[in-house]
Amino acid sequence: MNVHDSERLAGLLEDAGYVRSGAEATPDVVVFNTCAVRENADNRLYGNLGRLRPVKDSHPGMQIAVGGCLAQKDRGEIVRRAPWVDVVFGTHNIGSLPTLLERSRHNREAQVEIEEALEVFPSTLPARRDSAHSGWVSISVGCNNTCTFCIVPALRGKERDRRPGEILAEVSALVAEGVSEVTLLGQNVNAYGVEFGDRHAFGKLLRACGSVEGLERVRFTSPHPREFTDDVIEAMAETPNVCPQLHMPLQSGSDRVLRAMRRSYRAERFLGIVERVRAAIPDAAITTDIIVGFPGETEEDFQETLEVVRRSRFSQAFTFQYSKRPGTPAAEMDDQVPKEVVQERYDRLVRLQDDISWDLNKELVGTEVEVLVTEGAGRKDAETRRLSGRARDGRLVHFSPVGGGVDGEVRPGDLVRTLVTHAAPHHLVADGEPLAHRRTRAGDHWEAGVRPKTSGVSLGLPSFGRPATEPAPVGGCEVR
Ligand code: SF4
Repeated sequence: MNVHDSERLAGLLEDAGYVRSGAEATPDVVVFNTCAVRENADNRLYGNLGRLRPVKDSHPGMQIAVGGCLAQKDRGEIVRRAPWVDVVFGTHNIGSLPTLLERSRHNREAQVEIEEALEVFPSTLPARRDSAHSGWVSISVGCNNTCTFCIVPALRGKERDRRPGEILAEVSALVAEGVSEVTLLGQNVNAYGVEFGDRHAFGKLLRACGSVEGLERVRFTSPHPREFTDDVIEAMAETPNVCPQLHMPLQSGSDRVLRAMRRSYRAERFLGIVERVRAAIPDAAITTDIIVGFPGETEEDFQETLEVVRRSRFSQAFTFQYSKRPGTPAAEMDDQVPKEVVQERYDRLVRLQDDISWDLNKELVGTEVEVLVTEGAGRKDAETRRLSGRARDGRLVHFSPVGGGVDGEVRPGDLVRTLVTHAAPHHLVADGEPLAHRRTRAGDHWEAGVRPKTSGVSLGLPSFGRPATEPAPVGGCEVR
């Protein structure tokens, strides 16, 4: 959600006449888009702001803006602790950034503006997309749940749903410009429809994405097990471009802990969904999020988590050690688990999950995968002479891009079919000659250095433009 908000901030600033500054240049404007879900977000923000102070002192006129969840939470505290910050804006008014920068410049004083409720649905704002081939599409913002470890409801507010027609218009507009993969976004994505009273709206939306010509891959994140209905499983199974992948946060396998987390499903319900997804989509890769060491978690609770992990056979789990988020109910709970206990449980969970991930990946050796080539997906690509991308089920694949069915140079955004030759716990390797290579418009755009820019949705097609790479003497900006 925050990454997509950064795309909106970049789009807004471009529309206001700013251009992206070069990597070596000192920007005239630096925008921090903060995330309070991350651990130590505040320390990192104030550390970054501190390092930027001498830069600002030696670059008169430079402006620093701070937005996102942490700004929504800390508000005036930010300019108190870092008085060299020029603008603070919240999660509900990101559209105000250009005006606030202008006002701060004009009035020569910091502008702090936080709204309590969403001004406009963020997708009505322009967005400069980072990727030529994959696009985020927000279908809802906010969340009506109250998980006790989570700061989101406090900072993003109640769920607001976008109309299906607007969502499909944005999807179609992106596809018209060569984007082949969209990820539908929502804090609680499958609760979609709650605002306009249609419990089956999410499944219907998936099916509607299936009829968008040229859309090859549809993903969504993140669903909540409570709202996960069978019609969504049917829609996933029966819509060919919906990827065989499900990321569904478990958080804990202990019903007692789930209750304390105020997660209103139980382990058996979670396992039932996994079972039904596997029955309907046998090749589905199921991933999850798990928190270890939630306050009050006993060894017995933790064993229950391990058991659900064993039975679910996740292809990947994003595991987190519980740490307090100020402002959440769990941060006030008495029985916090000692750090060394959390660490030891965490290590055991990671070992178990790595074994499962590796076993599942080994089963794929010798099978064919379709890879959407992605820039920067493989850190060692330069030394291994491989390229990297994602399979339809979301797995990371490093592959050899030479010989066989390769049609010219393989570029990010292109699609390659190849055979898996080797498995590791967190990725697959395909070192044979590719079986086929499809050059795509996204690949052409990547090569030409252009990225889609949606101009605020439902208002027709996005425009394309070359992101400026040269340093700008005036109005250069950088969104971090
Ligand atoms: S459902 Fe997700 S976003 Fe909503 S409160 Fe729970 S963890 Fe936070």
